[in-house]
Amino acid sequence: MSKIDILSIRKQFPILHQKVNGKPLVYFDNAATAQKPLSVIVALNTYYTRDNANIHRAAHTLAARSTEMFEDTRKTIQAFINAREVEECIFTKGVTESINLVAQTWGRKFLQAGDEVIITSMEHHSNIVPWQMICEEKGTILKIIPINDAGELLMDEYEKLLSPKTKMVACVWVSNALGTINPVKEIIEKAHAVGAKVLLDGAQACSHLDVDVQVLDCDFLAISSHKLYGPTGVGVLYGKRELLEAMPPYQGGGEMIKEVSFERTTYNDIPYKFEAGTPNIADVIAFKYALDFVNELGKENIRNHENELLHYLVNGLLTLNETNVMSSGVETHKQIKLIGTAKEKVSVQSFIIEGMHHFDVGMMLDARGIAVRTGHHCTQPLMNCLGLDGTVRASFSVYNTKEEIDVLVEAVKSIIKRK
Ligand code: PLP
Repeated sequence: MSKIDILSIRKQFPILHQKVNGKPLVYFDNAATAQKPLSVIVALNTYYTRDNANIHRAAHTLAARSTEMFEDTRKTIQAFINAREVEECIFTKGVTESINLVAQTWGRKFLQAGDEVIITSMEHHSNIVPWQMICEEKGTILKIIPINDAGELLMDEYEKLLSPKTKMVACVWVSNALGTINPVKEIIEKAHAVGAKVLLDGAQACSHLDVDVQVLDCDFLAISSHKLYGPTGVGVLYGKRELLEAMPPYQGGGEMIKEVSFERTTYNDIPYKFEAGTPNIADVIAFKYALDFVNELGKENIRNHENELLHYLVNGLLTLNETNVMSSGVETHKQIKLIGTAKEKVSVQSFIIEGMHHFDVGMMLDARGIAVRTGHHCTQPLMNCLGLDGTVRASFSVYNTKEEIDVLVEAVKSIIKRK
């Protein structure tokens, strides 16, 4: 049993208490973005009504206050992922920018023609396209780890792909389309054994799983605030100090310099070397409140609650299939097929309904106030591997309830009736 006080949690999310299309909102699109607790919303408001000033540069009180709060978030994220040093945490716009930063700086400096980068079949486009871009520029070869029908990586195939030519393994920790938790510790150990670096896309993992970059020993980890109950437009790139120091800057401008003359510029130390220009100060500051929210609840409690929801949904959907067949002896309803049935999963469930387009299903659910995601989930190559053009995806957060899942299952039941 989970130790979550669901009523008090839901009270902290004002957006949940509304009607959509005349029905109470059921928000099951959390893998796309999580809703924000009041503490985050209030922090944004407070910052702009009381503290707004540009950071790091001025002597005045508001600037000092803003700087302190901004750097406080950096300390909080350092503790959240157990980075050895606070300077190893760089603020970005999100996971997409974090990965582009590594591809464009580390990749440009360290990849050569004939080198190999390995990714998986279940990557989000943001962990495919940046590598394709740099591989094309450098003559580096991109290799892909295949998956089985359940949506699990074929680790034997991964081992076959590894060689001294492998320079980077860039891998999604948790699949946004399938919910699969990849065995990243093993992936990292095997990559390091051939001298390769590892970047983890932590977009989906960080809100559900315990994160300890020192135990994992990953070289880079990309994190997104908006998947973690924080504001959009903020992310973090964690990188090991020696790697970040060896990498050239990403963008040039203010803040990332030590000294500039027309002849020559010297660069700032990490993390500022990678933070050119005025950052997203307010949202970074509010992100701390999202991390506090997660810390106060505890990842284990969150995970237990979400896993209960996942199993409840899976049982509900599978029971619809069974009762359809059993009640009449023949199949009288459209069947539901679950997509993503890995043994190790987070609370994300994709499915399709035979003979129906996922978009139509999404529209019918929306008419009942239920928000799910439909489409390829920015994983077109994965959809191609699965022979699909898209799925319906329900993804749960800590504020979701079994009663909401009942609403979804009832809605699916009425949709699958054969006409
Ligand atoms: N990677 C995965 C697995 C995702 O689910 C997402 C967002 O959906 C991203 C990357 C992109 O993250 P961001 O929106 O922070 O750029």
